[in-house]
Amino acid sequence: MTEEIFEYKDEKNWFIGSFEAFNYFTYFGDDEAYESVREVFHNLLSKLGIEGVQVHVVRMASDFHLLAFLIDMINQKTGRNLKVMQHQGASLVSENDQLLYVHLPKDGLSLETFFGNGGADELGDTILIATRNEGKTKEFRKMFEKLGIKVENLNDYPDLPEVAETGMTFEENARLKAETISELTGKMVLSDDSGLKVDALGGLPGVWSARFSGPDATDELNNAKLLHELAMVFDKESRSAQFHTTLVVAKPGKESLVVEADWPGYIGFEAKGENGFGYDPLFLVGEGDRTAAQLSAEEKNEQSHRGLAVKKLLEVFPEWQAQDL
Ligand code: IMP
Repeated sequence: MTEEIFEYKDEKNWFIGSFEAFNYFTYFGDDEAYESVREVFHNLLSKLGIEGVQVHVVRMASDFHLLAFLIDMINQKTGRNLKVMQHQGASLVSENDQLLYVHLPKDGLSLETFFGNGGADELGDTILIATRNEGKTKEFRKMFEKLGIKVENLNDYPDLPEVAETGMTFEENARLKAETISELTGKMVLSDDSGLKVDALGGLPGVWSARFSGPDATDELNNAKLLHELAMVFDKESRSAQFHTTLVVAKPGKESLVVEADWPGYIGFEAKGENGFGYDPLFLVGEGDRTAAQLSAEEKNEQSHRGLAVKKLLEVFPEWQAQDL
């Protein structure tokens, strides 16, 4: 069997290639040019998962020519459908509409040159938070900024219908909201569903926390009802409870990401504290004697169900997001 030899030659570039057992190149130019050949050769081949390319670079004036030569060799040998194109000084390698590799000039490129008007401002993913509450949005924005993701909320989409929370569990409700809005908008959407679970009440008020005292519920009425329901439960141990949060991130065509967290404590015998909202004045935090309404906002965020769920989300989100690439 004769060994197949590939060759490209013009005035300024001359490459000779073949397929052997491992990737290897030779080039006897100066150090800077050698580095540039090394980068193109190894980065491209490792990105494509190709082994066995041997190339002798006799002379080289442009990275693009070397890339194009390698791509041509690989296509001929393996039947792949790789394409290389130039874009604003960068070289892009794609296959069947999938971008696989980007080779940039030595000093990089401005984002605006590469992506057109708007540059960095138009780059990057956006997540839509399924809430009209600007306070909640601000909290999530703080977290997603660390991941380079922009945040918007439902106030940016005034025409979207309300999604009724008809589920029997926190996860059902959070999924319903995130997945419905994601389908309607085509966007990546995050929703949260939270509430208080009291053990002596079999987990109530649970998903009905906001409306525990009826259709005209207020925080005061809900707290009064909770104290009433527990009126015959006299010892603190039996008044154990957890605040719970489930977060769901949905994206069309992708299995949703679900994280949840609990914040354990007890239901006190009287309301105490001025901070927070909802059941905070009745919720004795952990094994201590302060209620959630006696914590500062920072103290609460550090340990609360919502703070904890957000921390967990931050850990697993990048891996989930990379899954559909
Ligand atoms: P949401 O799902 O975050 O809107 O929460 C539903 C209801 O659960 C709220 O209206 C409150 O009654 C209760 N709740 C959720 N989180 C908290 C909290 O951190 N403190 C007090 N009550 C809460």
